[in-house]
Amino acid sequence: MPDPDPRRRIPRTDAILADARLAAVIDELGSGAVKRAVVAAQARARTGEIAPERVADAVVADLSAGPRALRAVLNATGVVLHTNLGRAAMSDAAVLAVQAAAGYVDVEFDLATGRRSGRGQGAVAALLERVPEAEAAMIVNNGAAALLLATTALAAGDRGSVDAAAPGSVVISRGEMVEIGDGFRLPDLIESTGVRIREVGTTNRVVLADYRAAIGPDTGCLVKIHPSNFRIEGFTRSVPVAELATLGPPVVVDVGSGLLGASALLPDEPDVGSALRSGAGLVTGSGDKLLGGPQTGLILGRRDLVERLRRHPMARAVRVDKLALAAIEATLRGPATPTERFLHADPGELRERCAAVLGAIEADVVGAELVPSDGAVGGGAAPGVRLPGWAVSLPERYAVALRRGATPIVGRIEHGRCLLDLRCVPGADDRRIVAGILDAARADL
Ligand SMILES: *Cc1c(COP(=O)(O)O)cnc(C)c1O
Repeated sequence: MPDPDPRRRIPRTDAILADARLAAVIDELGSGAVKRAVVAAQARARTGEIAPERVADAVVADLSAGPRALRAVLNATGVVLHTNLGRAAMSDAAVLAVQAAAGYVDVEFDLATGRRSGRGQGAVAALLERVPEAEAAMIVNNGAAALLLATTALAAGDRGSVDAAAPGSVVISRGEMVEIGDGFRLPDLIESTGVRIREVGTTNRVVLADYRAAIGPDTGCLVKIHPSNFRIEGFTRSVPVAELATLGPPVVVDVGSGLLGASALLPDEPDVGSALRSGAGLVTGSGDKLLGGPQTGLILGRRDLVERLRRHPMARAVRVDKLALAAIEATLRGPATPTERFLHADPGELRERCAAVLGAIEADVVGAELVPSDGAVGGGAAPGVRLPGWAVSLPERYAVALRRGATPIVGRIEHGRCLLDLRCVPGADDRRIVAGILDAARADL
């Protein structure tokens, strides 16, 4: 006989909380988190998404990853620095360092003397070891903060703090007025602290004389921003750092990606070391793009300029936290990062892995096939670069089920197909890809 109303079989909250499996979880995560999971599972049962008998199981499964709204996902998009998926995946070394730094640490304390010390000196030392061209370095909250602090502090001149009545100015080419994503524009960011921008040149062309003519007594620095997420081709001209450096005011170069040295794979991507050798006074960039570390902002360059930034009041507002300091140091000193490995993934190996996944699911998924797939660097870096590889191609409707599976898998929709590109999936997780596809196939029946 059909069940008249399965919703009546949904267990009550106190019945679920009495489940022996949840007692330990309540101790660990707190009863509030567990109750929220119970309410969510009951709601899923009410809509028919899960059977009433599965409510307790669903709560246990839901809490197994902790009380987090953030869920770990498998990135099968082929985009190495996927902004919506948290950009760089951290190395194991960085994860261990974060764990070790979670408690009390000597982040601003000298264990030998028992006195206060400079914050995060180990991370700064690691950065300077990697970039010998820099006299000094500073690590802040993110790349935007690095640029903001550099322009604000240098525009304030030697006064050391922002004078609202007479804010200084910085000079930027119109071809480098960049929007970095989600509606954020770097010129707006720079002007948000009262700094004035003297724009020079046109969208496609700027020459040294334009900069020279724009320099005045209130000029704090010349700013060169890497147009990281687009390309202009044709009748173009920009002024190299080495020429800007002859004009007098310090040159601040925002390289964007945080690449420390030149890369053979990404020859058009500017790097910190080269910019400093060309005469930049300061170079800024992100720690969680091509460097492959945690979210941080890097500032490297002349000692006197870094010191001015360090003394500016804004420095405290963009301070980096101890977990990021621990992770960036481990990244700088550690083995190849996941970002580096994924960027250099061997197409032949990717093809073999995709073929193995296909072999394991073919019988259950009608129309699955192996297809060539171009990965991308992402994170607004190297927009023209293709990373040749392979993908498992599934019917487009699989995308939703894969995202909502036990281990969320995010693929790429292309030409009405759901592509799973394994470039950014650690090899050990291929079996979870197989399991996810098979779960999705069962839901598809
Ligand atoms: C990404 C980027 C930024 C911003 O860095 P965040 O770390 O995202 O704050 C600034 N400038 C350029 C050129 C960038 O590419």
